[in-house]
Amino acid sequence: MKNAYLIGVLENVKKRNAGEPEFIQAVTEVLETLEPVIEKRPDLVEAGVVDRLVEPERQIIFRVPWVDDNGKVQVNRGFRVQYNSAIGPYKGGLRLHPSVYLGIIKFLGFEQIFKNSLTTLPMGGGKGGSDFDPKGKSDGEVMRFCQSFMTELSKHIGADLDVPAGDIGTGAREIGYMFGQYKRLRNEFTGVLTGKGLTYGGSLARTQATGYCLCYFTNEMLKANGKSFEGQTVVISGSGNVAIYANEKATSMGAKVVAMSDSNGYIYDKNGVDLAAIKQIKEVERKRIKEYLNYHPEATYTEGCKGIWTIPCDIALPCATQNEIDGESAAILAKNGCYAVAEGANMPSTPEAIDVYFKNNMLYGPAKAANAGGVATSGLEMSQNSQRLSWTFEEVDEKLHGIMVSIFKACESAAKEYGMEGNYMAGANIAGFLKVAEAMKAQGCV
Ligand code: NDP
Repeated sequence: MKNAYLIGVLENVKKRNAGEPEFIQAVTEVLETLEPVIEKRPDLVEAGVVDRLVEPERQIIFRVPWVDDNGKVQVNRGFRVQYNSAIGPYKGGLRLHPSVYLGIIKFLGFEQIFKNSLTTLPMGGGKGGSDFDPKGKSDGEVMRFCQSFMTELSKHIGADLDVPAGDIGTGAREIGYMFGQYKRLRNEFTGVLTGKGLTYGGSLARTQATGYCLCYFTNEMLKANGKSFEGQTVVISGSGNVAIYANEKATSMGAKVVAMSDSNGYIYDKNGVDLAAIKQIKEVERKRIKEYLNYHPEATYTEGCKGIWTIPCDIALPCATQNEIDGESAAILAKNGCYAVAEGANMPSTPEAIDVYFKNNMLYGPAKAANAGGVATSGLEMSQNSQRLSWTFEEVDEKLHGIMVSIFKACESAAKEYGMEGNYMAGANIAGFLKVAEAMKAQGCV
């Protein structure tokens, strides 16, 4: 990066946010790709848009006390980072995972600004969560945690202010408990959360949205480069919400998914992963992926997550967590003939991995664009709640498909306009940034 203004902004970010490597990584990637825009737009520099953009509007950290099944008091830490409201109310998920700390929530909230902007829907960027681990907890424990978490969070959110959703560890069960508590505290039934159950304001297709849309985006990227999912071998990491529905859609588009994982290890099934078995293990029984061998003894299970990227494939869809593909794994993917990576998870590729993709002319669909279908459906859930209407699955799916096609086109044309044809990462950052930047400039120094 050569632009003095951007170098100064980044230095300041590093100084102010020391000890938050994921956040610094996310900001660095975006600022590096914004260089040609900033060169062309001195008005945005003058308006201090980037200086303001990297600093969250508001950061809330709170205590979450709850009582476990043994009557013992447990204390977790809760977060909500309201990052940017230039184009709409804050919007972004709640992550429940032991690795959660402020830096993770800030990186996710920062990414969310651009992602939400790309969807074309009026949503600002935010993110939240806690270092609570729902794994191994009883339903009662999860409920007591969610109620305590929402007791504080409810003071800071609202249907026109900040609308949280699910993320890692926060699925339909957790959203239900949080929604119930919000309603009880505020005495109002309102679309304050998305990802709700279908019986109380949820949208059809929300469960499938991120995974399906990842494949819609990937398909556009493949098509633009003379390829398709038909007959391709695919590796998908994770076996949660995004991974399962990415598998379902990729398979329906003619691909064969041969591997999936969880945080303990991965399975390889050369005949194609049996998704019904995965759904039974993960969605119904909440068990570990190695149970897959009980259904298919001819498959293999390997402890540890990283090895999944050594399995030869044409297309890799990382759908687990941040920085799960490093430079070494990316090099193995490339050596084995993988020609496309599209990200279901947020920031799953390290900067070194991204370098490998570009050096090997691989197609790279960055998370901000490729996984935007989840939040797009959340936006559609908000619309349905405001109108007191429910659209059919087909209506929502069709709208989502249209949104993903237009996101791909926006990335493609922004990259081309700024002299980086085929670099969809730069395209996503630039297209997402410009809309937010114009809105921030128009609203003055706030
Ligand atoms: P889930 O909790 O449903 O599933 C997460 C999956 O990733 C699980 O298989 C989990 O394994 C695995 N995983 C989690 N942490 C790690 C880790 N540290 N190392 C290895 N594996 C891990 O979450 P989602 O499917 O909802 O989210 C997955 C990714 O997609 C996240 O990056 C999320 O931010 C992103 N995303 C999700 C959206 C959504 O709509 N749900 C929207 C946009 C992005 P285990 O069960 O063992 O923990």
